[in-house]
Parts: sequence; C-alpha cells; structure tokens
Amino acid sequence: MSEFSCRLCGKRGYTVLVSFEAWLDNAKNAEDQRKQLAAITNNRPELNFGDIVQCETCGLRSVARVPTSDALASFYKDYYGTQGYDSKKKSKIKRASRYIRRLRKRVRIGEFLDIGCNLGFAVEAASRMGFSATGIEVDPVAVESARSYFPRSEFLCLTAEEFAATGRTFDLVYCSEVIEHVPDINVFAGALSNLTKIGGCLFLTTPDATHFRVPRDFVRWPEVKPPEHLTWFAKPQLSRLFRDQGFAVKFQFAAKPGVRMLAQRLDRS
Ligand SMILES: [Zn+2]
Repeated sequence: MSEFSCRLCGKRGYTVLVSFEAWLDNAKNAEDQRKQLAAITNNRPELNFGDIVQCETCGLRSVARVPTSDALASFYKDYYGTQGYDSKKKSKIKRASRYIRRLRKRVRIGEFLDIGCNLGFAVEAASRMGFSATGIEVDPVAVESARSYFPRSEFLCLTAEEFAATGRTFDLVYCSEVIEHVPDINVFAGALSNLTKIGGCLFLTTPDATHFRVPRDFVRWPEVKPPEHLTWFAKPQLSRLFRDQGFAVKFQFAAKPGVRMLAQRLDRS
C-alpha cells in the first residue's frame, strides 16, 4: 500500500484501523446489511477496498483503495436490487421535515436542492414549506418513483458534478448521508460549493466517527460498511474540506453519532 495518500490532506502516513480480512470476518457475522456487503465484496476482487486506514496528519478515516466507478456502479445495482425502497419511508419524511423546519429560520425561502434525494422526501418537505424544490439522484429507479410521488417538484437523474456544470445555484443545498459514499470527496465538495448561491447555505449530514457513542473497536460500528461507505468523517475533517471550498462552517448538536453541518457560502471574489 506504498501508493496511499490521504484524500483530504494528501499526506502519506497512515495507521490501519481495520484490515480487510478483519472487516470481512466481522461483517459475515453481523446481523444487518454488512452481512450482504461481505457476501458481495468477497466474490469480487474489483471491490476489494484494502484496509480501513486513518491519516496520521488530518485524522481522516477511509478505505485505502477506492474501487473504480464501474465497480461501484455494478455493486450498487446488485445491492439496491435486493432492498425494499419504501421500508423507511415514513421515518425519512419525518426526519427530513424536522431538519428543514429548523433550517427555515436560517435561510431565505427560495430555491432548494437535495443532493442524493432518493425517493424525494426532503424535496417534498421543502416544497411544503414554500421552497421551489429540486432533487438529484443517480439511481434512475428512485428518480422515477420520486417523480410519480411528488409531481410538482423537479427530479433529475444526475451526479452533483454533472448538475454543477449547468451553472444553476440554490439558496439551500441539502445533502444527507451521501458524502460517505462518494469516491472523490474533493470533486464532490467542489460541486456542492458551485451549486450553493453566495450567501446561501449547505446543510450536510454524515456519520460522526468520533461521536462518544461510536464503539472504541471501530470495526464494530455499524456505519463501517464499505464499499457502500468509503470515508468516515469527524468535524475537523469536514470543516477543512468545506472551508477550502469557500464555506463558513458550523455544526449543530447531535445526540446520535451523526454530524450535522450548516455551512454558509462566502463570497470569495
Ligand atoms: Zn489526511
């Protein structure tokens, strides 16, 4: 693994948190999605993500090797093919509404964008609060469902990078439990920045690797589920990533092990 360099700070020094073999052993016996991930990953060398490592300089936890986009695309096709889409529908609508209601006091009610919108629950919640709401999602099946559930909002089957290239910008960009999945965090953060209006806000959530409720033995944390999750953040690394993209970064308190970041896009000119 001599070629490793941290995807946040670029430095080469790292420690191994969990070896690939140890992850696989643990996941095989887990009573959740990790069991299925182990079965898929074990049979496909192109999904071997190496060890789970931590950068000695900035503390970012990540897989040592990100599988190619093709390998990840075929992985998601098989993985999601086996899951019920609507299983958590009600709780997701509720959670999205709660988050956006809290944000309403902080941002102008204007244009709202959900990155990785899944079935469109957050888009619908924002629309009910008066935003003109758009959702983007890479899964075409989810986009079709979202369009049929919530026809008054706009849903597009695109990546954040592709959408940013159109030049459209939004008052509130919402990105919940997505960044831990993306292969290139710098390209992704750059796209989020380009999609946020100057003075607008980005609200982002992701699992919090240093929350007091995360098990000391990292492999035992259910969020350690590569290759679905590829990066595990804590607040300092998120601050660094989004400060570098022109945001003033703040965090909301979270009782559960998740980071809730609220960042305002500054005028860099
Ligand atoms: Zn680093």
